[in-house]
Amino acid sequence: MDWYNPSDTDIPKGHFIDGQFMSFNDDTAVDVICPSTGKAYAQLNYASADTVEQALSQAHQAFRAGTWASMAPRERAKYLFKWAELIEKEQAYLAQLESLGSSRPYHEVLQWDIPYVVDCLRFFAELSDKHGGYVGATQQNRLGMVISQPYGVIGAITPWNFPMSMLMWKVGPALAAGNAVVLKPSEMTPFTSVYLAKLAVDAGIPANLFNVVQGDGKTVGQAICEHSLVGKVTFTGSTATGAAIMSTCAIKGPKPSTLELGGKSPQIVFADADIEKTARTVAKAITGNAGQVCVSGSRLIIHQDIAEEFSQQVMAHFSQLKTGSTWEKQTTLPPVISAGQAQRIESIVSQSIAQGAELLCGGDLISQGGSFFTPTLLAVKDKANCAVREEIFGPVLTMQTFDSDEQAWELASHETYGLAAGIHTQNIQRALTGMREIEAGSVWINRYGRSFDHIMPTGGFKQSGIGKDVGVEAFQANLKTKSVLIDF
Ligand code: NDP
Repeated sequence: MDWYNPSDTDIPKGHFIDGQFMSFNDDTAVDVICPSTGKAYAQLNYASADTVEQALSQAHQAFRAGTWASMAPRERAKYLFKWAELIEKEQAYLAQLESLGSSRPYHEVLQWDIPYVVDCLRFFAELSDKHGGYVGATQQNRLGMVISQPYGVIGAITPWNFPMSMLMWKVGPALAAGNAVVLKPSEMTPFTSVYLAKLAVDAGIPANLFNVVQGDGKTVGQAICEHSLVGKVTFTGSTATGAAIMSTCAIKGPKPSTLELGGKSPQIVFADADIEKTARTVAKAITGNAGQVCVSGSRLIIHQDIAEEFSQQVMAHFSQLKTGSTWEKQTTLPPVISAGQAQRIESIVSQSIAQGAELLCGGDLISQGGSFFTPTLLAVKDKANCAVREEIFGPVLTMQTFDSDEQAWELASHETYGLAAGIHTQNIQRALTGMREIEAGSVWINRYGRSFDHIMPTGGFKQSGIGKDVGVEAFQANLKTKSVLIDF
């Protein structure tokens, strides 16, 4: 049974500038593919240089007009709360649009993504008036103040895997701190972003404050990053693109950037862990959104004494998953975002086996309109195996065994990434040692994954990122500080 009929879903026009949906004939039109069917469901006009210019200049004018930036932060928060309310009100339509165009199953968008987006926005709205700066300790006849100011226009660039959540990580704190925003979503998942921007205007937020332009990264994304009106860039995506963006920001600025990048996160399971619960957690952490999650727990590092029993339980969970389109009720393993990405997953799995990994289950690419990949478990001995080294972004779990705590920490450490890690043990000493030992921006003990606690910042170490999304840190990252000295 279907949750909704995909052909009944209204698709908004591509760009959203100065409070209007826009589509221009001077731009190129490309097909937008539905991951569940592999077929085009809409067309998208990529922004020309003029369109990007128009969006940035509107955002700049909105900022300079001062209505938003100089409004009392408490007032600003009221508009953001109203925006959150409208998102909740329109959740059924937003969930359809998101699941039609992405790999997110409809019921998961309703149960998880929408409440997450709304909570995230409310969290930043609440922070609006909590960070005014501070008074510095100076000599008696002097007053030193450290005050915070918005950057102006924030250029935001987001990936395709959780389009609405990634948008709110960027736009929520930017607007709460008084900035204007020009956002470029991934051209693979373009439409919920423009609809969220429209709801912001419906909530009374100035029409030209939050603008969305569509297009590919190399032209439209690049044009945003290098533009002189952009005061700061905030990006979520792959490590390679993050490096390219940082370099653009350095050459065409320099200007600051916040980068949320890729991961290859370990799940370390000790012999004293609750095996049944942990096997469920490990299976879920690599198959959620078909493994297309930055913090997917993609490396199982397990004590050799329980490896056999544990892996059987993980595979049993894998075998219960059902592939299907995102609007079908029984779907528990959604499609891979594109045929190209599915082929990449298949190619890495083949290479990994050629390099000595043992395929314990899965490894199959199923093309049935959309592309699906069966949950895969690879037993790997060599740390240099490509499935251990590379971010696969699919439901592929590697398994490495250890026989001492030291070896567990050593295997957990990745040469490139440091986004997240899971530690599963009943031993507090061991858990806390791992917490300190592991180089990762998030460490989860006897659980895995983010929660609705937006107070907890998220972001990576090593090549997994620079700066934080969510948390007080993300709000502060949208403000620059100014030192003021007054002699009297
Ligand atoms: P990409 O890096 O391919 O793309 C991300 C965005 O950047 C897209 O909008 C893309 O446009 C744009 N872009 C590409 N090149 C440039 C450029 N030169 N200048 C400016 N913008 C550019 O990532 P994916 O969309 O494939 O997303 C998956 C990645 O995101 C994974 O590595 C995942 O780990 C990471 N991610 C990290 C998170 C975190 O919290 N650390 C959270 C979620 C995802 P286009 O679509 O045209 O390429």
